[in-house]
Amino acid sequence: MMVEAGPRTPLIVGNWKMHKTNSEGAAFVQTLASRLGAVVGREVMVAPPFTGLADAIRAAQGTGIAIAAQDVFWESEGPFTGEISPVMLAALGVKACIVGHSERRQHFGETDEWVAKKTRAALDHNLVPIVCIGEDEKQRDAGLTAEIVLGQLEAALGLVKSQEALRTVVAYEPVWAIGTGRTATPEAAQDVVFLIRRRVAELFGDDAAVRLRVLYGGSVTPDNINGLMAQPDIDGVLVGGASLQVEAFVRIVQFRNTRAA
Ligand code: PEP
Repeated sequence: MMVEAGPRTPLIVGNWKMHKTNSEGAAFVQTLASRLGAVVGREVMVAPPFTGLADAIRAAQGTGIAIAAQDVFWESEGPFTGEISPVMLAALGVKACIVGHSERRQHFGETDEWVAKKTRAALDHNLVPIVCIGEDEKQRDAGLTAEIVLGQLEAALGLVKSQEALRTVVAYEPVWAIGTGRTATPEAAQDVVFLIRRRVAELFGDDAAVRLRVLYGGSVTPDNINGLMAQPDIDGVLVGGASLQVEAFVRIVQFRNTRAA
């Protein structure tokens, strides 16, 4: 496979997890927009909790910032108490949704099958699915990283058609690096992301593999962002903890883009 650096705009996504009320989130978005000014050559998203989406979308209007959800259910409506449908998210103005985050897999029993259905549902409603995959520490220590990550990738994208793959974002998030302060080295993250892109090429063709963006997530900070973004296959980052502080997130968004040179 010869997948060259493709036309992939870097994407920086802040995942607030279960943090920030609606008013705190809106204030954050306003401050972020004024600190960033016009953002050129990169795409910025933040993912508030469901309760913060509407106000964050209002605050983001006219700025370059897009708002993503942290999860989505696959049905459009029905007796699914507590769930939020892709129709509801799209109607609100949400542009993307995180799917299969390891915290949902770990604490809420999310399966590969659910992740596939959610990815499908997101695409059906013009939401960009940000599909999270990654091995845990035991799997890594057992040398199973490639097997686990590529297995999750194939399962998650199992209902995606080739022409839709380029509308999909994959986030490689080693579970042992999430919220722990332990980041994969840029080279180790690149190695896995390269395997992901190669498998995307096998599944969907080289064109999809050139265009599909693969992010890295796991303890990304202003101090390690440049090294990660210097890797040829890492197209952006999914940021948890460091996305909660405006100044840290601004510094991450303003990473040094050596690829554009
Ligand atoms: C995440 O929530 O996806 C994440 C990567 O968190 P953190 O940056 O805190 O490790």
